[in-house]
Amino acid sequence: MGATLESLLKLQEIELQIVDIKRQLAAKERSVKRQTAKLRAAEESLETEREELKHNQVRMDEVDLDLKGRSASISRLRDNLNTVKTNKEYAAVLSQLNNEKAESTRIEARVYEMLEAVEAKKAALGEHAGGVRQESQRLADVKAQLEQARSSFQERLDALERQREEACAGLGGRTLELFNRISERHEGEVMARVVQPHPRRQEFLCDGCNMQLAAEIANALMTRDEVLTCRNCGRILHINKDG
Ligand SMILES: [Zn+2]
Repeated sequence: MGATLESLLKLQEIELQIVDIKRQLAAKERSVKRQTAKLRAAEESLETEREELKHNQVRMDEVDLDLKGRSASISRLRDNLNTVKTNKEYAAVLSQLNNEKAESTRIEARVYEMLEAVEAKKAALGEHAGGVRQESQRLADVKAQLEQARSSFQERLDALERQREEACAGLGGRTLELFNRISERHEGEVMARVVQPHPRRQEFLCDGCNMQLAAEIANALMTRDEVLTCRNCGRILHINKDG
């Protein structure tokens, strides 16, 4: 194998390590993003619940106030019963009193129901607030993991970038451009080996995509240090003379 293809293989080795580290970091960044969105959704839904609870409490206070008004009116009607002069007046006040009492009982039941609902909402809210705290803790954890990965990978990444620069030194600008383009497309898997599945047959495949290659390509690679790409997947081809 010629010097150019040797250099490209070496460069690919470094490139794959860089890509792997970046992939791991990107996965952790995605975790942080996902957890941030999850926390935000939980916080928003908690806020909605808080608003609902506040609204329910206001409604309950209104109904409670109505109930107090009726209690006062019941006392007044009771007093009236003692002061009325005629049976007819007595019957009228009594009927009013009974109506007010019935209404008061109905409202009391309603206040009780509302109170129960408010208590249930408060309990749920407490539980959900705990859930939000957990999500928030989880976010802090994945953020810390990302930071830790970043700092632990940094030294390795710096070393790899230096190695990469060194490996690039002997290669021409156009070859490097090609290498970078393929690396982008195939996540660092720039090079593809030419394989010969049957030793006696003049049949060659690209190891990168398994497509058949012309015999001339294999022959050229065996005799010259040439940068040739697979017509199908675009990777740079290389061949082992021993097969
Ligand atoms: Zn290919």
